Amino acid sequence: MTEAKLIDGKAIAAASNEALAAEATAFAEEAGAPPCLAVVLVGDDPASAIYVRNKGRTAEKIGFRSIKRVLPADASHEAVASEVAALNDDPSVHGILVQLPLPAQVDASAIIELIDPEKDVDGFHPLNVGRLAAGELERALVPCTPAGVVALARDAMGDDLAGAEAVIVGRSNIVGKPAAHLLLAENCTVTIAHSRTRSLADVCRRADLLVAAVGRPALIQGDWIKPGATVIDVGINRAPPPADASPDARPRLIGDVDFEPARRVAAAITPVPGGVGPMTIAMLMRNTLTAAHRQFEARR
Ligand code: NAD
Repeated sequence: MTEAKLIDGKAIAAASNEALAAEATAFAEEAGAPPCLAVVLVGDDPASAIYVRNKGRTAEKIGFRSIKRVLPADASHEAVASEVAALNDDPSVHGILVQLPLPAQVDASAIIELIDPEKDVDGFHPLNVGRLAAGELERALVPCTPAGVVALARDAMGDDLAGAEAVIVGRSNIVGKPAAHLLLAENCTVTIAHSRTRSLADVCRRADLLVAAVGRPALIQGDWIKPGATVIDVGINRAPPPADASPDARPRLIGDVDFEPARRVAAAITPVPGGVGPMTIAMLMRNTLTAAHRQFEARR
């Protein structure tokens, strides 16, 4: 029995970052300073701290300037807002990312709306959401994880995705909805399925390209997949270690797709970890360079 090709997100992200490093050098020579990404972290959530550290490390590795602003967990809404305003006003900063989630006393939607849309490298500002929905991709900054999904789909299916039946399971603002808009812009026929979808298995079986962004371990079964489909698994779930594992074994990370059975049906599939995960930071770097170019051109 043939097994699906594994879509190697780690390698594709590394290649993208390598290309970006060369582009960053060229930008710095022309503009007199490198692309600059500023990340705002509020509080001491360990997972958020790791994400922020990884973003900073990747930025520096590819020759970007990286700025980190850390505020205490009890920082007021006004304190976070004034940090964002200062970064908006700093012409040497090209990208601003406020690490989510924010503590309860900070109004996250209001903070996102304060970010200069031209520096909104997460693509969450309503203006960028609107530009993406309107198909104005040359003016938008688009969310990083969905951009990574499209890059992986292209790697497996070729650059022309036109006409493919794409089914996205999940309708969040961070992954599902923007992934749908991006795939529509690629001329796919797009279906968004969600927690109230009837006959989810049948809907999934239509997909040439199946994107799972649910957050339910191994929800998508092998027999929900059309033979020869490409499967992109965005889910990151902690599964308990197997019963026979040693007592100090750590939980494993698994996706939303039941991997082994799916692998026997699909033509190409992303592993978890090592699929979509590494692409998110690579796309953040891509957005930062795009933002830097646009700001440099606008000031010429
Ligand atoms: P979310 O909880 O905001 O949205 C989940 C979506 O799944 C909802 O739209 C809901 O309608 C749908 N859903 C829930 N149960 C369902 C069911 N039984 N059947 C069908 N649909 C169902 O989650 P999110 O932020 O979009 O993230 C989804 C997953 O992707 C999570 O596991 C998250 O950790 C992961 N994620 C990974 C990355 C990355 O790789 N860098 C980035 C973001 C999110």
